[in-house]
Amino acid sequence: MTIVVTGATGQFGRLAVEALLRRGADPQDVLATGRDDAKLASIAELGVRTAVADYDDPASLRAVVEGADKVLLVSGSEVGRRVAQHGNVIQAAQDAAVSLVAYTSIPKAQTNTMVLAGEHRATEELIAASGIPFTFLRNSWYLENYLPQVPTYLEHGVVGAAGDGRISGATRADLADAAAAALLADDSAGRVFELGGESFSLADLADAVAKASGRDVAHTEVSGEQLTEILVGAGLPRGYAEVLADADAGIARGELEVTTGDLERLIGRRPTTYREAVADAVRALAPSAS
Ligand code: NDP
Repeated sequence: MTIVVTGATGQFGRLAVEALLRRGADPQDVLATGRDDAKLASIAELGVRTAVADYDDPASLRAVVEGADKVLLVSGSEVGRRVAQHGNVIQAAQDAAVSLVAYTSIPKAQTNTMVLAGEHRATEELIAASGIPFTFLRNSWYLENYLPQVPTYLEHGVVGAAGDGRISGATRADLADAAAAALLADDSAGRVFELGGESFSLADLADAVAKASGRDVAHTEVSGEQLTEILVGAGLPRGYAEVLADADAGIARGELEVTTGDLERLIGRRPTTYREAVADAVRALAPSAS
């Protein structure tokens, strides 16, 4: 049985490969793919097979998917180009008549109105229309979207435009483990998993940083426009800042809150919580910062 993992040179993809191995997959059954040869060399050290495949190069995708049983399609990182890119993977998977495509999507993809959700919705629709048996792994936010900012939170507090909205954040590692579990299960076809951990608001996040550090950490609510300007002032490109502010608006509408319990069921254990991850991040800072 060959399981093709796309985007295996990225953070999530590598963790998914590692989780497949931990869950007992034969390394020779795992084909880790990416567009960068040098990055693939580091994955080859895990003992899995590797091959170059670029979402923009249908021939490369056909070559890796041919003869495969299952494909983990890790959504690409080139926002705005992803539907066509994912479409190339789906076409290759359809031509190869694979038994399953698992796709990393976003919570409530069919109704989620965040800008970022559009490409996930369109990809889910392409997969459904292809007739390939599929599993949608609708991942809520990675906790790692927030953790690198812990030093900033300690200095300036948590600033956001998400209101009381809750984020069912989970670590990349837990979400990647869920992907591996779904790929290795026999009953994943046709299933849609809404995946997230214990939910928190941005005020809860500030509280977690405060408790872990013993310092005062405020939560400040700003408008979406204000958040955009703050992020631009911090050096982010305007387009990216607008996408992040739009994401906060989606959080305020509850679009990243997941209450299904699918993550815990799939991985068979309690996912890491935001408080645990924040405490680890605070501990990892220089002693003077905590
Ligand atoms: P990374 O940016 O670390 O990895 C993205 C992967 O996609 C990399 O392997 C990258 O290859 C690959 N990729 C991008 N473009 C192409 C292409 N044209 N052909 C082949 N491979 C390509 O992201 P993560 O691993 O952290 O997350 C995985 C995906 O999840 C993201 O791409 C994004 O769609 C989504 N995401 C989800 C978030 C969440 O909070 N749930 C947050 C951020 C992203 P290369 O190494 O060569 O760049």
